[in-house]
Amino acid sequence: MQENLQKRQQKEQTFYRRTGSLFVSNVSLKYYKTPMDANLIDIIPYIAGENDPIGPGEVAHKLVIYIHPKLSQTGEDIICMEKTFKGARGKCPACQEYRRRVAAMMSEEEIKPFKVAGWPRVLYNVYDRKNPNSGVQVWNASSYLFQQYLDVIARRSSTSPGQQPENYVNFMDPTLEGRSIGFDKQGKNELTKYIGIHFEERQTEVPDSILEAAHVLDEIIAWPTYASAYEETWGVPYDDNDVPEGIASERTKKYDKEVKKVEEKSKPVEEKKEQVETDEEREERELEEKLAAVRKKKEAEKAGAKSTKEKAQEKKTSSSGCPHGHVFGIDIDEKPDCDKCQSWKECAKEADRLEREKR
Ligand SMILES: [Zn+2]
Repeated sequence: MQENLQKRQQKEQTFYRRTGSLFVSNVSLKYYKTPMDANLIDIIPYIAGENDPIGPGEVAHKLVIYIHPKLSQTGEDIICMEKTFKGARGKCPACQEYRRRVAAMMSEEEIKPFKVAGWPRVLYNVYDRKNPNSGVQVWNASSYLFQQYLDVIARRSSTSPGQQPENYVNFMDPTLEGRSIGFDKQGKNELTKYIGIHFEERQTEVPDSILEAAHVLDEIIAWPTYASAYEETWGVPYDDNDVPEGIASERTKKYDKEVKKVEEKSKPVEEKKEQVETDEEREERELEEKLAAVRKKKEAEKAGAKSTKEKAQEKKTSSSGCPHGHVFGIDIDEKPDCDKCQSWKECAKEADRLEREKR
């Protein structure tokens, strides 16, 4: 089978330009959209190209790709080169970020978006037996929904042990030895299910025209480089440290903030080793830290968590003006500033007035 396939495909091999998201943009592809009712398809074999993880020149019938779902700046999937090629093509910026977040013990919510999907996407060249005029179509299927069950029936359908050297149904064989695959689709989107996946005897061979039209699947994929995956993940070019404020995406800003957070967490320990702090300096620093924390808390309290009544009250009273920013006529004698306050008398008057109002 391999020799024939190779001959057929030699003249067909085109090297597509790689741009855009999952698929290259300069080749028009027909996609197989599984109908709601019964499907009957043949999976068409081809000779793997240079970028197939199984190795170039091998007979292939599927391309397995691991992805980071919806992680790109435009909400599309990003191919995980690290997992797809088992590390042979270097690191993945999204996986690096995932590991960093795990190490920094961030919350599940913060970690999850960077996790590679456990079930890979599986691409096939499909020949629709119910609609043969549509030619070869590319099916981007979930291994969770399809390939894992296909594997099971391919093994189960084998004849009893000892009869055949291969314990596997070679369903992708384009002759009558191969099999068509039938199944029903149920549900849509996340609720999609493929049920009753089974093999059917072929009535006719896969036509030569279909075999020749099968895509070398690894050549229609826009494999990312490290730099392009980085850019898709963060929205800024890789290696560009000088990103103007306006261009940096929200996510990048968030990332920078989080990197700083982690760096700050690990910093003081290192610094302590290097410089010896006197007790006095330490006390001063601790006090400063405490004050900063109090200030921060106050600011946060100011920003929210005040009832409308409180706000209204504050507006009414503060208009008369406490020089220290406290609530005029209310906070009197409750703040350290009150001891030496120039407006103490006015404030006391206001406090009396408010007291009378209450009665
Ligand atoms: Zn990855």
